[in-house]
Amino acid sequence: MEYLDIMAGRTSPEDLFGDLVFSGTYRFDEPMAMHTTFKVGGPAELWIQPDTACFLSFVPSLLRRAKTLGIPVFILGGGANIVAADRGIEGIVLDTGKWAGMTGQMEKGRLAFLSGTPVDQAAREAASLGLGGLEFLAGMPGSVGGSVWMNARCYESSVSGVLVETEILNEEGIPERLPAKAADFGYKKSPFQTRDVLILSAVFALESRPVFELQARMAEHRGDREAKGHYRYPSAGSAFKNNRAFGKPTGKIIDELGLRGLSRGGASIAPWHGNLLINTGGATAADIKALTDEVRERTFAALGIKLECEILFVGF
Ligand SMILES: Cc1cc2nc3c(=O)[nH]c(=O)nc-3n(C[C@H](O)[C@H](O)[C@H](O)COP(=O)(O)OP(=O)(O)OC[C@H]3O[C@@H](n4cnc5c(N)ncnc54)[C@H](O)[C@@H]3O)c2cc1C
Repeated sequence: MEYLDIMAGRTSPEDLFGDLVFSGTYRFDEPMAMHTTFKVGGPAELWIQPDTACFLSFVPSLLRRAKTLGIPVFILGGGANIVAADRGIEGIVLDTGKWAGMTGQMEKGRLAFLSGTPVDQAAREAASLGLGGLEFLAGMPGSVGGSVWMNARCYESSVSGVLVETEILNEEGIPERLPAKAADFGYKKSPFQTRDVLILSAVFALESRPVFELQARMAEHRGDREAKGHYRYPSAGSAFKNNRAFGKPTGKIIDELGLRGLSRGGASIAPWHGNLLINTGGATAADIKALTDEVRERTFAALGIKLECEILFVGF
């Protein structure tokens, strides 16, 4: 493929992308298992994690150049919702991990965070200012950008409920501010899922609350996740989406079919929760894919229900 030829003779992103100033880290053939909460995935041809200092000057040019050259780019947040293929990811994996932090209080109660900020950190920083609305995300792995892209949801709240604006790099690599319109979001759906853009930052509308109250609620959510075994094994959280039309939570449907503990290689349905797929050690991405396929087939055969995967398969 053309981009492989381009990469073959190159040694650094500077070579690849001309005279752009780059600071940060990059590696060729970087195992994605190092960058996903599932701890699976083969090599990214080129993994780049730009520092905050160069992000805004380097990334737009990188994206435009990659597009012109036909090099695919995958945007990586916290890697908490993806299964990267065992054969790896072609082209560039652009890691937003260092593009992190609160950028400021826009106006009363409005906080902006760079997209690579872990959501737990965003919730903590908001709470420390006495601003509530993000505490439902405490303890959830992942970044602000990934949670906006996924419209992450837990404890009866969705990211779209507090999101007022995003700044993106649009398909031409140009920064653009987008007001968040409720109608564009749905259950685990955001308008970014049908576009090829990079979320740079997100602004949330928050409410004044006593700090102790926010901290108590965050501790409760973290404790609840701990009790539900979320951190016991590598995973990407819920494997399948819920759907009101099913009449009950997907985890309960899988439980009732007796599929808890079902395994393929090192991948298992958690013995304690039907909708948690775990890496019990040495799982491959293919094991995870085979297990989700089997659960979907058996649920369809038994009940006529079509389960939809929540975890994203990348590079398959
Ligand atoms: C233990 C555990 C518990 C979890 N519990 C929940 C839960 O309660 N509720 C829930 O909704 N999810 C849950 N998840 C899943 C996961 O935490 C969320 O989906 C999270 O929002 C993913 O964010 P991320 O940054 O890791 O995204 P990634 O997995 O890195 O990426 C997900 C998608 O977002 C895109 N993306 C990421 N950043 C950007 C960006 N800046 N610009 C454009 N696109 C971007 C990626 O390209 C990819 O398509 C859980 C996961 C784990 C491991």
